[in-house]
This record gives sequence, C-alpha cells and structure tokens, in this order.
Amino acid sequence: MEQWVSDNLEKAAKIAALGYCDHCLGRMFAKCGEQLTDLQRGQMLRAALKENGQEFEPEEICPLCEDLFSMLPRFAEAIAEKVNEVESENFLVGCRIDPSQAKTEKEVVEEYGLEETYEPLKTELNREIGKVALPMINRSVNFKDPQVVACIDTRFADVTLDIAPIFIAGRYLKMSREIPQTKWPCRMCKGKGCPRCHGTGKMYQTSVQEIIGDIALEMADGDEHFFHGMGREDIDACMLGTGRPFILEISHPRVRDIDLDELERKANESTLAQYRDLRFVPRKYVKEYKEAEADKLYRARVKAEGKVNKQQVVDATISFENVHLAQRTPQRVEHRRADLVRDRVVYWVKAENIGEDTFDLILKTQSGTYVKEFVSGDEGRTEPNFSEKLGIQCRVELLDVLEIDYQQPED
Ligand SMILES: [Zn+2]
Ligand SMILES: [Zn+2]
Repeated sequence: MEQWVSDNLEKAAKIAALGYCDHCLGRMFAKCGEQLTDLQRGQMLRAALKENGQEFEPEEICPLCEDLFSMLPRFAEAIAEKVNEVESENFLVGCRIDPSQAKTEKEVVEEYGLEETYEPLKTELNREIGKVALPMINRSVNFKDPQVVACIDTRFADVTLDIAPIFIAGRYLKMSREIPQTKWPCRMCKGKGCPRCHGTGKMYQTSVQEIIGDIALEMADGDEHFFHGMGREDIDACMLGTGRPFILEISHPRVRDIDLDELERKANESTLAQYRDLRFVPRKYVKEYKEAEADKLYRARVKAEGKVNKQQVVDATISFENVHLAQRTPQRVEHRRADLVRDRVVYWVKAENIGEDTFDLILKTQSGTYVKEFVSGDEGRTEPNFSEKLGIQCRVELLDVLEIDYQQPED
C-alpha cells in the first residue's frame, strides 16, 4: 500500500461512507500521490479500504457530483463544436456547476479537514473535459493567457465562448479638420438616431477610429471596436509628421490572424486619415499608451488683434525657452475636466511666415500643455502666455500636431 494511501485511509473511510463515486472520493486527496487522476486515487483508496475490511459501495448516483463525469463526452463535444466555430491558436475549458454542489463540497471539506488535500469539483471537471475535447479541437491548451475560453454550464450543457480581444497598434495621421479621433455619439439621442443627426446617431459622419475600425471589425468578424489613442488632438487640428500612436481593440474576434497589410491598404483609401506601422500587440500596451507622457511638436497659425512687429514676435518666441507655465484648466474644457492649475513646460518656440497680423508658431511642449491657451492666455488662466509677452492679444486659428515623441518599448 502506498504511503499516501495508508496515511489517508481513516479520512477516506469517512468520505466513502457518504456513498461518493471514485472521482469524488479521489478528488478529496488530489494533492496526494503523483501522476494520478482523481479517478485513480479514488479507485486505489477504495481498494485499500476493501483490503482493510471496510467495503463501501458508491451510491447509484453520486450524492456529490450526480455522476457529472459520465457526461464528459457530451460536454467535450459541445465545447469542441463551439470552439471550432472560431479561429484561435489556443483555448481553455471552464465550467459552471450547480452552486449547491460547490456548497456541499465545501461543507464536506471543512467537516473532514480536507482543505490541504482536496481540489474543487470544477478543477477536476475542467481538466477532464479538456482531455476529452483536446483531440476534437486540435489546438493547444493555454492556462495563462488563452485566446478562447469555452465555458460549459454543466446543468444545461450549453457553452459560452469568451474570446479575448485583439489589439492592433499603429500610428495615424489626420489630414481632416472635420473629423474627431473617436466615434462620437449624437448629443441629442445618445446614439439611437434622431432628426438632428439625420438618424446616424453620431455627431460626425466618421472618425479616425471608424475609418480603420469598421474595416478591421469586418475582417476579424468581431463585435465592436474600441480606440485607444495616445492623447488626442482637437477636431479642427491635423495630426501630421509620423503620426500619433494608437491601439485599436476588436472585441470577440472570430478570426484573429487578419492581414494587417490588407487592413492598412484598405484604410488608407481614405483621404481623411492615414495609418501606418500596424502590428499586433499584447493587451498590456493599452495601459502603457494611455499613461505615456510624450512631448509634442506643434504648428499654430496665429491671428493677432492688431498689426505685429516682426522683431517683437521673434523676441517673444525667444523668451520662451524652457519656461514653466501655470496653466489653469481651460474654459473650453472646464465642464469635463477638474479645475486645476497644472505646471507645464514650453521647451522652445519659433516663428515663421510673419505677416501683418498673422504668423506661424512652431513650438515644442511638454505632454498635456494646452497650446491654444498658451497663445491666448485664456483670460489670465495661463501664465505666462504668448499674447501678454507680445503685448497684443492673439489667438490660434489652426493647430497641427507635427510630432509626438514616443519610443515603442521593446516587446
Ligand atoms: Zn461524484
Ligand atoms: Zn441623434
């Protein structure tokens, strides 16, 4: 008799006396004996008890699992059928059991002091269903980060699939001053469709998100797309240069391995936005992109309220070298952002195309700087500011982002 068997014989007798099946008997000692299934453990314990003159017959229907293990082939088939409807490299089996079974199991474990040696019914079921399903599915099992989790409810043998989203990173350029970065539901109807939005449910016909997202969604046969930009520009601002980093998320993709070159080509048929450097990334990048603090290079077309003197404009620009601004939340975003005073740095400013009352400013600023307010002063809410320095009230007519300083971390 193996040591773990003789060590646990006394407890095993109490469990066997409950009329449990070999699976449920063995499972109470799942942490004992190596290279064994719970069924084998149960059989070994029952045989040892018999040898000891303690013969316990399992009840016709196991009082704990209600013979769930006789259903393994049916569960496995139901799972294989569902998993085989979608594309993935790997999968994992999960199950939902009758809560009263879990409760009974917990009570028995506590009553007989089996906390150290047992494993839950769910764990054994998952593993045993997985073993039977594996040859029908022909993909690897992945415990850590499965692309598809097939969960079977053992009461009804119905399967729900949890498909992990795919994440596609890239950079976008926005050449239009008419579209927002992300899909924008109509303010009146909140997306349902009304006269104001001509039934579209949207404030704008399209967006940087929708141009690429709708195509990717169709290619991946997914449910929804989400857009995670590394910050955003105003609707009337262009995003130029090498573009802004973003991650497109497609939920519930039934096809994962879509052709990103094809996606890029199709999306770039648009004249409103362009996309580049598309690649698949892990989910953790979303957080990284959201938290990234990238310095930005801007070009602002500035209109002054009077004639400007070329030298004075140049002098004003030169005075802004590594200058800290105290920037109170702008009036235009006050309704959706906390009213705070932020410390932001303007690294440098250069003037170009200086005319009678207009000029361009090229400026490099710290992440989170409100450039329009730096130029106008926002009625004293940004100090110091360009208008004050120049001595003439100015405002930004057009704003473009020329560069976003961000280095993709190594995978
Ligand atoms: Zn059982
Ligand atoms: Zn509407």
